[in-house]
Amino acid sequence: MATAGDEERSLTTDLMLCSICLEQYKQPVSLPCSHSFCLTCLSTHIITACVNCDPPLGFPCPLCRKFIPAPGKFKEYSVDQWAKLFPENKFLASVAVGTKPIYCKPCQEDEGESKASSWCMDCSEVLCDDCVKYHKKFRPTRGHVIGSLNGCSANFCQPFVLDKCEAHDGRKLELICKEHISPCCSVCVIKEHVGCKRFCQLEDADENIVGPHNVKTLQADVKLLCSNLEQIITDEKNNMNCLDDASDAFAKELSEITTTIIDTVKRLEEKHLGEIAKLTKQSKSKLEESVHSVEHRVNYLQYWKERLFKNMSNETNLNTNTVLSFMKMKQIYENIRKLDYSKLKISIQTEIFDSVQKLTSLSCLAKTTSFEHQSPIDFDLRKLELKCADVINISEFTSPCSALYDGEFLSCDKLLLTDHKNRRCVMCDTEGEVLQEISLPGTPWGMCVRGENEVLVTLSDVHKVVVLDSNSLEIKQSLSVDCSCYGIATSGNTTVIGTRESIVMFQDLSDKNSCRTLSTEKENIDDVALDKDGNVIVSNYSEAIVKKLDKSGKMLFKYAHKELNKPFGLTVDGHGNIFVNGNDTNNIHIVSNDGKIIRILEGVQNPTCIKFLRGSYRFLVGEC
Ligand SMILES: [Zn+2]
Ligand SMILES: [Zn+2]
Ligand SMILES: [Zn+2]
Ligand SMILES: [Zn+2]
Ligand SMILES: [Zn+2]
Ligand SMILES: [Zn+2]
Repeated sequence: MATAGDEERSLTTDLMLCSICLEQYKQPVSLPCSHSFCLTCLSTHIITACVNCDPPLGFPCPLCRKFIPAPGKFKEYSVDQWAKLFPENKFLASVAVGTKPIYCKPCQEDEGESKASSWCMDCSEVLCDDCVKYHKKFRPTRGHVIGSLNGCSANFCQPFVLDKCEAHDGRKLELICKEHISPCCSVCVIKEHVGCKRFCQLEDADENIVGPHNVKTLQADVKLLCSNLEQIITDEKNNMNCLDDASDAFAKELSEITTTIIDTVKRLEEKHLGEIAKLTKQSKSKLEESVHSVEHRVNYLQYWKERLFKNMSNETNLNTNTVLSFMKMKQIYENIRKLDYSKLKISIQTEIFDSVQKLTSLSCLAKTTSFEHQSPIDFDLRKLELKCADVINISEFTSPCSALYDGEFLSCDKLLLTDHKNRRCVMCDTEGEVLQEISLPGTPWGMCVRGENEVLVTLSDVHKVVVLDSNSLEIKQSLSVDCSCYGIATSGNTTVIGTRESIVMFQDLSDKNSCRTLSTEKENIDDVALDKDGNVIVSNYSEAIVKKLDKSGKMLFKYAHKELNKPFGLTVDGHGNIFVNGNDTNNIHIVSNDGKIIRILEGVQNPTCIKFLRGSYRFLVGEC
């Protein structure tokens, strides 16, 4: 029967054991799933669990296998730091000395000795039942989280908190930086968001920041990403099964061919042995015949030898019998001697073919190679049903530029716009508030973002392209291009520029020699765009057409529509769909990547430029 003493022992022994090393806890830390481990045990576990994870994002609890996300911000800490960042299990730490029964701390301080039954997380103290009652009665301690010491009481669930700043000691997150769409604590505001101007209270988050549309979109995006990732897992698992199947098939094929080879060799061996036996037999019988024929003659000679020799004598007085015998013998001898004689010799040789010899020295039966292909997958853009997708006006403002011919999204929802009339570029936020501006040595027309930190701007009158730093707006480079340049687009190293006479493509914008003319007919090109495959899409405003050319300048299609006049700005989304502004027809045509109309968006007034925020379906339209 369990006694109170047993219970204490189990409390102080079983609970004291780390389930990894099965020894008393040393610096116990607890995970959100409520399980605790020694700091070093946990750290070793984490490092092993994350070996093949790039980037490491979390690990399974060693006990319950629940996924525990890495502490801190995304990729903030290295794997070997994680364990330290989980909270110390103060209860286990406080009782991890010795195996004596646990007594209520407050009572002990009062020199009383009552057995502890509970643990207050806030005070990090063990309490007896009475002290728990007081704890719950008094206002200052009323809200404390108290857990029972029984069962797995050593492991308290940590409450899931969202409103504490992970970077700044759990300060309350109270504000939203509208420029980073990020919650901030008071320290965040003065440290990470020094330059940011637009903040609002967390409670005042508006439709632009959250709102049902954004929530719906985010949920759909997350679900889609999950299902895309699951698809990769499914595909890779199928791949594993395919490998097993292929390996089984190969084993079967190999065993079949091996069996066939062995059978064939055995059969040939038997056949060959049969042939040898037959040949031996034939040869022997030939020799036997020959022997027989010689023996025959010997027998004949023997016969007469025995008969006649004894009648012959060397004496000089010959009798007739002797004479006749001699003559007879001589006759026989002559007859036999004159016969044809030959000595038959037969030998059998076998020669094992080289190809058979080679079989014994085979080093392998087949060649095995594996082909590996890592294909990068781009989840940047959802495949939107463009035919019916909602188009929402997120923000609309009067342009700070007097002739807005082109613009781009910079980081953090900042826009950069060209002011054609005033020879400058203006950086503003998505509500039109001017943040910065730069005057230019020419009249800006087209603009495009290059890489992470650069913007290219064409100066149509001075035949130049300037490279701006997209953070400081400083001019980093000014390149002469020998033509009046208008629309510009870039992708990788390739840059394409629309001029009034032609479309030119640079393999390297800073190298004039890398310039090729894609099309020389009298073009009235306004804007240009490059799709993922390096094809060039151009708008010709005087002919009211949009054309797509491949890298060599070959035309892939021409798009025209009675409701498209003066096509000015154009851009492509991540799937190659073309968005082109009808400046005269006050609309935006969405054209598929093979030149078919998808949809016409109305509600714009003399649209000039159109640009996407990269990796999204958010776009800006300039009107002029
Ligand atoms: Zn341990
Ligand atoms: Zn666990
Ligand atoms: Zn007490
Ligand atoms: Zn307390
Ligand atoms: Zn903070
Ligand atoms: Zn900010």
